[in-house]
Amino acid sequence: MDAVLVTGGAGYVGSHTVRRLLEDHRRVVVLDDLSTGHREVVTLFERVYGPEQFCFEHVNLLDRSALASVFEGHDFCGIIDFAARTLVGESQDEPYRYFENNVIAFQNLLDVGKGLPIVKSSTAATYGEPRAEHIPLKESYLREWIADGGFENSQLMPAAVDFEMLLGWYKKHIVFKLCEEDIALLKIPTNVYGITKMMDECMLRYAEQVTGGRYVCLRYFNAAGADSSRLIGEDHDPETHLIPIVLQVALGQRERMTVFGDDYATSDGTAVRDYISVVELADAHIKSLDMLLAGGRSATYNLGRGQGVSVREILEAAREVTGHAIPETIGPRRSGDPATLIADASRIQRDMGWATRETLHETLESAWHWHRLHPHGYRVVQEERFNPFWNRWVNIAAHRADRPWRGETQLMEGSDDMAYDPECYLCPGNTRATGDVNPNYKGVWTFENDFPTLVWDAYQTQAQLGPYLSRTSRGVCEVVVYAPNHAQRLSTLSLGAFVQVVDAWAEIYGRLGDVPEIVYPLIFENRGTVMGNSQPHPHGQVYAYCEIPDLMVKPQLAMFESHREKTGRCFVCDANRVEAGDRRRVIVDRSHVMAYVPFAAQFPYDVIIVPKVHAASLLDLDGEERCDLAAGLRDVLCGLDGLFAAPYHYTLALMQAPTDGVDRSYHMQIHITSLLRGPGLRKHVVGADIFGNLINPSDPDMTAQEIRWAMRKEKQPPMNTDKHG
Ligand code: UDP
Repeated sequence: MDAVLVTGGAGYVGSHTVRRLLEDHRRVVVLDDLSTGHREVVTLFERVYGPEQFCFEHVNLLDRSALASVFEGHDFCGIIDFAARTLVGESQDEPYRYFENNVIAFQNLLDVGKGLPIVKSSTAATYGEPRAEHIPLKESYLREWIADGGFENSQLMPAAVDFEMLLGWYKKHIVFKLCEEDIALLKIPTNVYGITKMMDECMLRYAEQVTGGRYVCLRYFNAAGADSSRLIGEDHDPETHLIPIVLQVALGQRERMTVFGDDYATSDGTAVRDYISVVELADAHIKSLDMLLAGGRSATYNLGRGQGVSVREILEAAREVTGHAIPETIGPRRSGDPATLIADASRIQRDMGWATRETLHETLESAWHWHRLHPHGYRVVQEERFNPFWNRWVNIAAHRADRPWRGETQLMEGSDDMAYDPECYLCPGNTRATGDVNPNYKGVWTFENDFPTLVWDAYQTQAQLGPYLSRTSRGVCEVVVYAPNHAQRLSTLSLGAFVQVVDAWAEIYGRLGDVPEIVYPLIFENRGTVMGNSQPHPHGQVYAYCEIPDLMVKPQLAMFESHREKTGRCFVCDANRVEAGDRRRVIVDRSHVMAYVPFAAQFPYDVIIVPKVHAASLLDLDGEERCDLAAGLRDVLCGLDGLFAAPYHYTLALMQAPTDGVDRSYHMQIHITSLLRGPGLRKHVVGADIFGNLINPSDPDMTAQEIRWAMRKEKQPPMNTDKHG
């Protein structure tokens, strides 16, 4: 399938459109010079969707030869063009920059992309300062206005250039001649930005006559809000748009906002705009492209909600959504700002069934989530985070994932397709190293480890040698075989067989926990050579300790207790609440369990699966809850298999309450982690990881998105877009 070229795809509306295309399993090439777009967005898309689906070209449209190379390197089915400068005030101050970026660059794109269908982002700024009787604005308004006589002179408000000069630039640089009606159209916008977009619209018409390339121009009003992933949003530097500015005041990053003019002829004197959700805007671009790809005719559409909202009303709504006061002050009008712009978007609704559904309140809420969760906008995470599950600090250093790696890569072995392996010491009927013969077991089968670390008849020791102590390593080690089929693994078991494993884990915990001396039955599994496991037969292990183990359990107990003392609440319930509220790292959200990449993940692919009810162990979960847990866990493991395009290498452990009889009101968790930091790439635990703090070279938000996408692909396979080839 040919790719969609999205110019300016690292910017605000562009990135939202790209993400929707990618989520629809489409191939996208983003062309962006990153002058206002964000490298972090590109990194996110590269990482989550992989090279099969996503490619980035760091190119400026003014660079014709680089642009031509992009077209030589890819097959495109169509173009969505966002690459432009878009600030009214800036356009008034730097008109030539706008002419160059928005008009000359666009001519290059039309020239090199000859005849390809193109969806062009245009603007309501092309409508200038409409009269009250024309509002809400129809697309036809401009031509009707001209038919009625139009304007004798340009409406361009005082700018660093006059209209004639702009026309002069056009004549000098652009091949398409403007007719009388075009010049009349160009007189309508009140600012340079609007004029440059109107020039683009004219050029599209002429280009179609020459190349047959069909187009859709989308004139949008005020884009606002953010994607539901909460990973992409609005981030301009400097910020000039109303909603982000208001939210920055709510966050305390600015003291107050200035209302630019309260003497407009509007109901409350402040300027009225039509604010539309960026997600719905993105949707309209994709619908338009699909219409063109299906052979539809060229058209121009308004995109708006059809509702005017004043600056004051935005302020009030933002106060409600954020719960913050948001101080304001009144300032003079901003050059080039019309009083009222409201869309009549009935044409696109009629032609393509596109309509807005999101309320302004919802749009503001999504914008607020983005700003609240990304108070500094996009940035690569490089900070220390406290991981209370382990009671330790972790260095999150996301930029380190990009460092050049010349070390070894790991072979990720494919799945074993032999249902029975005569050499396997776990297959039914085979003989183990001890000479014992395995029964012909059918479902889950448990036996005592032939090489146990902990034993009942351990010799007695209780010694002290200077600072050194020793104690008896008493306990039980068991092996729990999940299924007789050698070729299976947890992720490939049927749900029914997986539930049997969960029931077996519960039985083992209950049985060993009831033994008076045993205080901690630890159930775990290591899988894959990267995790030191050489036996692919599906199985896990049990270490039933007579002393509470040190590495994870002890620090957790201390941490949970101090959290309860301080807050009176369960730490895990609180962590679940924070993750559910944040949502960026949640990868499973089922009736009874959730799974997330923890905020302070220690390893790139740390995942925790946890019951929503406050359960001390599997014994506290009923049949339905265990089934939900099995389904959630299986989904995660299937997703990870898909992500690595091979059976995943991991270690998994059930953290359940100690069985020493002390009531700690513990909340069980299942942790899955891996030494892999990418397909075939191993994280080496050395240096600072051993002697200082663990370093996680991956942003947990991005990891979660990556796993989520892999899980979705497993459930809903796309057409041939296997990420890692
Ligand atoms: N606005 C304002 N204060 C600000 C930023 C914007 O009063 O700090 C007003 C601006 O004058 C306009 C409306 O809010 O009337 C929307 O402006 P924005 O820059 O968000 O979008 P535009 O309509 O210019 O594309």
